[in-house]
Amino acid sequence: MAQGKVRKKTKSVTVKATEPSAQSTAHHATNAAHSVENDATLAVHAGEDRHGRNAPITTEIQQTAVFALKDTEQLRRYIKGDPEVYLYSRYGNPTLRAAEEKIAALEGGSDCVLTASGMAAEMVAALTLCKAGDEILCMQDVYGGTTRLFSDVLSRCGITTRYVPFTEIGQIEKFFSPRTRMIFLETPANPILRCVDLAAICKKAKRRRIPVVVDNTFATPVLQKPLALGADLVVHSATKYLGGHSDLTAGAVVSRDKWSQALRQNMILTGACSDPGVAYLLLRGLKTLSVRMEKSSANAQKVAEFLSAHKKVARVYYPGLPDSPDHQLARRQMTGFGAMVSFDIRGGGRAAERFLNALRLWYIATSLGGVESTVSYPVLSSHSSLSRTELSLMGVSASTVRLSVGIEDPADLLADLQQALESR
Ligand code: PLP
Repeated sequence: MAQGKVRKKTKSVTVKATEPSAQSTAHHATNAAHSVENDATLAVHAGEDRHGRNAPITTEIQQTAVFALKDTEQLRRYIKGDPEVYLYSRYGNPTLRAAEEKIAALEGGSDCVLTASGMAAEMVAALTLCKAGDEILCMQDVYGGTTRLFSDVLSRCGITTRYVPFTEIGQIEKFFSPRTRMIFLETPANPILRCVDLAAICKKAKRRRIPVVVDNTFATPVLQKPLALGADLVVHSATKYLGGHSDLTAGAVVSRDKWSQALRQNMILTGACSDPGVAYLLLRGLKTLSVRMEKSSANAQKVAEFLSAHKKVARVYYPGLPDSPDHQLARRQMTGFGAMVSFDIRGGGRAAERFLNALRLWYIATSLGGVESTVSYPVLSSHSSLSRTELSLMGVSASTVRLSVGIEDPADLLADLQQALESR
């Protein structure tokens, strides 16, 4: 995707609001129109090109809530949508804009809205596509916070959700109704890393004009580009791989032209904005996204192969293993298999807890996507509120352990796993 595309003006969408229009807040950082399409280069340069400018090579943190204007002419220029004029940081800020442009370029979208968290990104996406009386079709195996947002919060706005079991996702059209206004998918999905055929589902949704939203947190745009496979919106918990250093909370919604203005307007009106300091950290993290994903995915492959051969391990879930049920699909729609690996340990819950507590290098932590390797225990964290039946429908048990593989030396990672598996 050429950087130039990110600068394209969005089409006009009527949005009723009392705040300045989204068009006037869709600022664009100065950005020379390179024809660069490679992720590693985009990750470093998109949104931050300094050629020909006597400017610092890094993007400054413009830590301000509001911008002082030279004269009333600037107000006029702002209202007309001049990308050089900023008014108020909740509407737009140059540091945020640089991060938005970088993420949009990586996902191949025409725009990106940065949000306070991944949850805020999902809320803004859903409120943009749905209104009271509409229905969301959501894959059952998505992140637990997503199902709670849809079932506990959006339901109070009159938006209902039907959950589609993973086993039925291939026949999603059976669940379509005249009220269906959005399909929400996550692939690879938490925690047993099943993959969904995005191109096939998007094709069916397109026939019925139902927008598809994909949570691309686990794969990142370096490994999977949902928009190119037919999705309408991509959401991220940028807290994870995009930031990459476990030091920020942020989210992003990437769109094509059609939804850009409405998304921005809804971000502004719900106050779901990010912060310039966070955007600075995110920009810094994003620059190494490509190399981090390459290294952590290579480590994950080694970890998955090591676990597969270990007598204390009953089953390994990783799309990079040739015997994974999703191996061929992942080969087709991803450019790598990612850095998340899950497995079932022999000996049930007691063995799983013994293993976790014996680890010395891997941190027990419920998040993922940092440079450090971490381990989480779904039944005591992300999936603790689910019943046994719900867990078994998702293929999760007390034996299931989830690993987020970092960028350390693989020999050290394997040695720590080995000693923890052997511990008594
Ligand atoms: N999507 C996925 C796949 C996640 O794992 C998470 C959080 O763990 C979220 C969304 C929510 O992101 P955040 O914690 O940044 O709000």
